[in-house]
Amino acid sequence: MRLLFLFAALLPAALSAAPAAAEPTLLEVDQRLAAIAWRLTTANASLCRDQQPVIGAALHAADQYPPALRAAFAAPVAVELVVPGAPAATAGVVADDGLVAVDGAAVPAPAGSGDPTSVTRDTAQALIAAHPPTAPLALTLRRAGADRTVTVQPRAGCRVEFEVLAGNKLGASSDGRVVQVGGRLFALFGDDQVAVVVAHELAHAVLRHRARLEAAGVRWGLLAELGRNGRLFRATETEADLLGAYLLRNAGWDPQLAVRFWREEGGKIDGGFFRSRTHPSAKARADAIAAELATMPADAPLPYAPPLLARRDAPLG
Ligand SMILES: [Zn+2]
Repeated sequence: MRLLFLFAALLPAALSAAPAAAEPTLLEVDQRLAAIAWRLTTANASLCRDQQPVIGAALHAADQYPPALRAAFAAPVAVELVVPGAPAATAGVVADDGLVAVDGAAVPAPAGSGDPTSVTRDTAQALIAAHPPTAPLALTLRRAGADRTVTVQPRAGCRVEFEVLAGNKLGASSDGRVVQVGGRLFALFGDDQVAVVVAHELAHAVLRHRARLEAAGVRWGLLAELGRNGRLFRATETEADLLGAYLLRNAGWDPQLAVRFWREEGGKIDGGFFRSRTHPSAKARADAIAAELATMPADAPLPYAPPLLARRDAPLG
């Protein structure tokens, strides 16, 4: 979870034309995304070839922020939030604890020049991610100057990080390792609707779309919409929609949420951020997901790995 201070400055402007609704704070948005990501990544771990330990806590580092905001940190890296009921919370980790060491290995000190950077936070996150997915983790935490060590029993989860994308962004994107979710989604939609989008992005990662598109030699950018490029991008979007609905179901949501999202909400945003020639129309997306879910056996297990998962090893073409 990347805490982007720019987001707080940009969101109110993005919503200024809308009726005065309670705007979610930056922390609320991060908390909502963390809870959704926790459910999706752990419930679908067996569908993910690449796994990591997931503890249900988001880290942030003082040097992600302007200097004036750094003094409040208990240590250079600290716990931004914990997901209620997740392993970190169960082990007694609480928000604002400084993170000093992971399994006795000190969290590296910031090496930056003083400009805001996420490198320190990413390094600390990588320390945790490098551990076996279900091995207990000893976290040394600092609070009011006193250190304590707690043992967290992680859950295995998909090896994907989620972060809120700064600015007036409604869309979401995935490069295979980091999923970025537009901050504006959280102002417009409830958690069930945001989960549809997050599941779609997780599906891109599970289906190895970035690697498969690169292997197919597609071009990003201005040429993305054209000809073969456009066809291959649309194929990956459809695959992600279909698998995304199963990922939702595996995590305890009604998979029909995805159908309803594109029928009802998708219509509102069709023509906006989600609509381009690389994405099918909202109605086509809803219809394709409904048809796919109709093929699911009535007694499908939880989690269910649908046949289309095998496409992750098939070349696009
Ligand atoms: Zn997509």
